Amino acid sequence: MKKILIVDDDQINRKLLATMLSKQKGYVVEEAQNGVEALSKLTPDTALVLLDLIMPVMDGLTFLQRYRIEKPECANVPILVLTTDDSKKIEAKNLGAKEVIIKPINPVEIMEKIATYLED
Ligand SMILES: [Mg+2]
Repeated sequence: MKKILIVDDDQINRKLLATMLSKQKGYVVEEAQNGVEALSKLTPDTALVLLDLIMPVMDGLTFLQRYRIEKPECANVPILVLTTDDSKKIEAKNLGAKEVIIKPINPVEIMEKIATYLED
């Protein structure tokens, strides 16, 4: 089973993504409300992370800066950023995000993108 970690401070966004991924696609979904929770829930068997940028406690850019240092065993986990803030796109890419998708998300588009990173 592929495990996907959804990181977003907005519960509605998390539930929308979680429902799509678990009910429609059968992925195992974990949720985190900020970068600190995401760091604690990230494991080597996490197949993919969906990361919001603007969050309290620890934002998405800080998570991107830290996860390879604090969890080096997770350095190859692909991170897809979902954000309303177009201006952070280049910075997120420079920090290693595989994709930066601007919200509101198109469910079909995001499912296709996620699938390309989860092919065996
Ligand atoms: Mg947010």
